[in-house]
Amino acid sequence: MFNKLLLATHNQGKITELKSMLSPYNIEVLSALDLELPDIEETGTTFAENAILKATELSAISGLPCLADDSGLCVDALDGRPGVYSARYAPNRDFDAAMDMLIKELKDSGNNDWSAHFSCVLALKIPEQSIRLFEGRIDGTIISTKKGAKGFGFDPIFIPNGYQQTFAEMSKEQKSTLSHRGKALQQFIKEVFQTE
Ligand code: IMP
Repeated sequence: MFNKLLLATHNQGKITELKSMLSPYNIEVLSALDLELPDIEETGTTFAENAILKATELSAISGLPCLADDSGLCVDALDGRPGVYSARYAPNRDFDAAMDMLIKELKDSGNNDWSAHFSCVLALKIPEQSIRLFEGRIDGTIISTKKGAKGFGFDPIFIPNGYQQTFAEMSKEQKSTLSHRGKALQQFIKEVFQTE
């Protein structure tokens, strides 16, 4: 087992969620932001490829066990876009603008079905060991008006199926029990912390 884990991300929203979900476990959690490590270019075409790339490179640079998250929003009416390109969908990573652009694209598509899902792949690289992957997905709907101020990214326009609130209106704890990232992390926790 390891007692230090590096999160291979500079995204403050992801860091807050992952640190909070890992807080019950006896492990020091650091991020690429804390250690001022470089941003790894996402050259892959799938969530898994990008997660593997980030975990492998930042584990090699830091010498630490490293957990990378690659995730995104896949919209059915847009043939799965923005998908792996979700972070780069808006110029300067301005998510307020990104949500406006997405809503406009959906209105322009003329399609009334605004179904979408978030996907997350977590890749764990422990030095000298082979990489391990954990996946999560949550299905829901995009709405045309932003609601809520919590969370990050596209949270204000995503309502998970079976709920009335957007991710941005939910508490951190509630989002974590439902979300793509929460589900992938539960797998990670089960396999890494609870199988000893
Ligand atoms: P990447 O995995 O760093 O390439 O970026 C993931 C991008 O997907 C984020 O910048 C958001 O646009 C979007 N995303 C992933 N997870 C979430 C989430 O939980 N809520 C809202 N947006 C998300």
